[in-house]
Amino acid sequence: MAKVAFLGLGVMGFPMAGHLAAKGNDVTVYNRTPAKAEAWVARHKGTFAATPAKAAKGAEFVMACVGNDDDLRQVCTGPDGAFSTMSPGAVFVDHTTVSATITRKLAGQAAAAGLVFIDAPVSGGQAGAENGPLSIMCGGDPADYARAEPVMAAYARICRLIGSSGAGQLAKMMNQICIAGLMQGLSEALAFGQKAGLDGEKVVEVISQGAAGSWQMANRHKTMLKDEFEFGFAVDWMRKDLGICLDTADDIGARLPVTALVDQFYKDVQLMGGGRNDTSSLIRRLK
Ligand code: NAP
Repeated sequence: MAKVAFLGLGVMGFPMAGHLAAKGNDVTVYNRTPAKAEAWVARHKGTFAATPAKAAKGAEFVMACVGNDDDLRQVCTGPDGAFSTMSPGAVFVDHTTVSATITRKLAGQAAAAGLVFIDAPVSGGQAGAENGPLSIMCGGDPADYARAEPVMAAYARICRLIGSSGAGQLAKMMNQICIAGLMQGLSEALAFGQKAGLDGEKVVEVISQGAAGSWQMANRHKTMLKDEFEFGFAVDWMRKDLGICLDTADDIGARLPVTALVDQFYKDVQLMGGGRNDTSSLIRRLK
């Protein structure tokens, strides 16, 4: 069992840090809004610290799940950032979805300070974080990854090293590109079925077991049919992710025509006031 710090107790981080504590790790949490850290300590075995630097002091592993590139930079190298107190050889594991550019920059800064940085974005959503089965795609050095993998096992269904620093974030971009087009297709099919007067649940029971089946269809069709979107993976975060995908595509010369279109559709949902709604709210534009 390890001495672990966890930075960022949002929808994802709160339950992930809880799994680490449940496995017997010695966990110290930090959250920008202290009330969430207090709520975490009331529910789990562990302590909380007032800054990333204080949480990271003496930890063998520092895990983070914050918002975007700037947020990650702040908790790593900003005032009271974790890098300032981490011991030589300690491992920083980043579960935030960010760009490969900031990842490689922070990994370089970590290496210069004698620290290790692994990018480890996750897929599986709120339910995955709460129940344990997240998919984790990592970038970094194989020996460093081998040290971190048993810790991440507390909340992973599958955890793999994809390649060198940044490769985990590039894999997560592929994940989001898959979801964007798929979510629009699922939205169109369900809205089409409703206009045609079909019982959507009955149809999905059949087609989900054929070639059209997907995680989104299995886990989201019921709430999409009922117009319930107050949960899950926020549209604001999806637009952040699709922005990263589109910028990266420009850099590497890849083409993402459907992803670019769906990104604009998500902008419509934001303008409808749905920025914090689950990504399945894409169907709202069609009703
Ligand atoms: P969230 O609920 O909004 O939580 C974000 C967390 O980051 C909060 O604890 C927030 O603190 C903290 N934070 C943000 N900016 C910060 C800063 N500058 N300094 C310190 N702390 C900061 O988000 P989430 O849904 O857990 O998502 C977190 C990350 O995981 C995002 O990159 C997202 O894209 C990714 N992700 C999310 C899901 C999902 O289904 N939700 C799935 C896969 C990946 P406060 O409490 O003070 O706001």
